[in-house]
Amino acid sequence: MKHLKVPKERASEVIRKVREKGLQARNYGVFNDGTYVYVPLEGEGSIWDSEVVDIEGRPEKRGETPVRVSGSFDAIGTIAVIKARDMEKASAMADSILKGGSGIRSVYMDTGISGEYRLRNLILVAGEENRTSLYRENGVTLKVDLEKVYFSPRLATERLILSKHVAEDEKILDMFCGVGPFSIVIARKQKCNIVALDKNPFAIELLRENIAMNRLAGTVIPVCGDASEYVKSISGMDRVIMNLPENSGSFLSLASGAVRRGGLINYYENLDVTSLEQRMEEIVGMGLEIVSKREVHTLSRTESMYSLELKKT
Ligand code: SAM
Repeated sequence: MKHLKVPKERASEVIRKVREKGLQARNYGVFNDGTYVYVPLEGEGSIWDSEVVDIEGRPEKRGETPVRVSGSFDAIGTIAVIKARDMEKASAMADSILKGGSGIRSVYMDTGISGEYRLRNLILVAGEENRTSLYRENGVTLKVDLEKVYFSPRLATERLILSKHVAEDEKILDMFCGVGPFSIVIARKQKCNIVALDKNPFAIELLRENIAMNRLAGTVIPVCGDASEYVKSISGMDRVIMNLPENSGSFLSLASGAVRRGGLINYYENLDVTSLEQRMEEIVGMGLEIVSKREVHTLSRTESMYSLELKKT
């Protein structure tokens, strides 16, 4: 059976075109081999610049046996983001999600995060191609565009906990703010002053919309810039939020310079359990006291995201 053979990075765009033109073979599924995604075609289908290969098709199991679906997904408004081992499993999950009546209209498979803006590489598995959505959490509404900005709903509880700790009139720097989930959730609840910084101009554009969309008790000032330069000019903050878990370590001494003595840093880092102790010793060596430590969520058998609250002594 003829299949389009597409590099994984282009799969989303090609699958969308194939489906729009009604060229995907009915009752056969999309699958991948880790590098290429194979899209079954109706008829000969020599189209576009993609390679066409003649290989055995994978009939969809739908209708023959009930599809057993397992695995969790992140719901971001009308978008579901799933992690699955292969396209076959992803298709089965997507099918079940779309039929679940949860208002999800697009299901994407997450194949990793990359680049300085920490964007998700997403492949459309089922539903409509639309990466923009409104998302609600902790009493606020956020507009996100997963094509242009990072967003994850997984820190919603973390944001709620933090918003309860912030005192009135605190001066806060949200150093890697994205579309502003930390800033907006905190400023919704507390009268405080937040400078929200991100180097991604699209994130700052959406942050402006998110500020306008929510009734805030505090103020949020959006700044588009690179923390490695901008934060040098900042001092006297009561609190700095550092949500860049893959690389927070290289910005910690800058953050420490921006916070007043006795002020706090909410620090997130992805760490292997074997390196956690050493990391904490390094942090203490920088003149920061560890007030609290929480495991936010696991990333693998040995790696987790940790949340540390640090006090400048
Ligand atoms: N706090 C947001 C959230 O929870 O959705 C975004 C977190 S995301 C993991 C990290 C953000 O840091 C991205 O939006 C990225 O554009 C931004 N970023 C990465 N390097 C940066 C830098 N040097 N200066 C400012 N922002 C940066």
